[in-house]
Amino acid sequence: MENFQQNLEKYAEVALKVGLNLQKGQTLVINAPIPALEFVRKATKKAYEMGARNVHVEWADEELTLIKLLLAPEDALKEFPMWKAKGYEEMAKEGAAFLSISAANPDLLKEADPERVATVNKTTATAMKPFKVYIQNASVNWNIVSVPTKEWAKKVFPQLDESEAIEKLWENIFKVTRVDEEDPVKAWEDHINNLKEKLEFLNTKKFKKLHFKDSRTDLTMELPEGHIWVGGGLECEGGFEFVPNMPTEEVFSMPLKEGVHGIVHSTKPLNYGGNLIEDFTLTFEKGKIVDFSAETGYETLKKLLETDQGASYLGEVALVPHRSPVSDTHVIFFNTLFDENASSHFAVGSAYPICIEGGTKMTPKEMEEKGVNTSLAHVDFMIGSPDMDIDGETSKGDLIPIFRKGNWA
Ligand code: ZN
Ligand code: ZN
Repeated sequence: MENFQQNLEKYAEVALKVGLNLQKGQTLVINAPIPALEFVRKATKKAYEMGARNVHVEWADEELTLIKLLLAPEDALKEFPMWKAKGYEEMAKEGAAFLSISAANPDLLKEADPERVATVNKTTATAMKPFKVYIQNASVNWNIVSVPTKEWAKKVFPQLDESEAIEKLWENIFKVTRVDEEDPVKAWEDHINNLKEKLEFLNTKKFKKLHFKDSRTDLTMELPEGHIWVGGGLECEGGFEFVPNMPTEEVFSMPLKEGVHGIVHSTKPLNYGGNLIEDFTLTFEKGKIVDFSAETGYETLKKLLETDQGASYLGEVALVPHRSPVSDTHVIFFNTLFDENASSHFAVGSAYPICIEGGTKMTPKEMEEKGVNTSLAHVDFMIGSPDMDIDGETSKGDLIPIFRKGNWA
């Protein structure tokens, strides 16, 4: 137990120092589920010790989300408390930092009507869009970490009883966020530098196309001119670096909106806001998903792809080696924050403007002209496998191996 308290302390420290890189005098906004209380208190204390100005905590309870989804009148699902959306926007405008805790029960919305879920998702995305721009442009420093909840832990470790499952999930979280290392802050610095080497390779090569191939995936993806690979740390408008995701093992960029052809098969379950989509296949023509299938969650996937025009195109390509601290746990987390860092992945929906030269200054119209996808949706899904080969094609047509058998070549 004493050891746990120490690790929790270190976890809060890593999230604030490396993740957010919280600055003196900065206000911090924390988004957290109620079971994260202990962690949130530690993080809040640490934040003030580091010189934070104010810490605002926004509590959430997913059971309440479910109750509303099941019982509220149809019309109410199209309403969003705008004071809340405006509050986030105001905080971002004033240069606050944002810490979010991701801990969704993967089966929460099993019984809810997919149509009603889609309405709520779209309403939320529309209302929160102005704030989302600050996040996607990395204008402000933000970070996402996770804290186990009993529903989530039981899904990951169904054979254990509740308290053992929570303990086991904590153990894995501490491992993949490098909290169990002697000096986690130093371990993160080394890791970020390691990712920078991969970025340098990809950003020097400026590949025109990528080819993804394994036993079930065969896909060609063009990359837009001026695309940028990013990963690990990002620089925010304040001129300092932060690490948005913990864990993070990915380097990512954007595809050319209409330059994706072929077929891709998902390799891990996707928890999309409380519903699982499993074993699915997407077929692309000129960038658009023209056909899809799913063993589980077909309706949820269909609704996601119908969010808007851009939701049936890709907006992100991320390379993650099959051997990573996350995949070495051999745990399926049913939480994208973890699973996407054990596997190469794509995202349907909007591209990150930071992944193209001048992107953060472009209007949506200019983005579309440059082949940058825009959408209310941005949902990552895992496609990496131990037998995946990825080749990069240069502008001269030379093929250079990037991945062999799931790992960096
Ligand atoms: Zn990603
Ligand atoms: Zn993503």
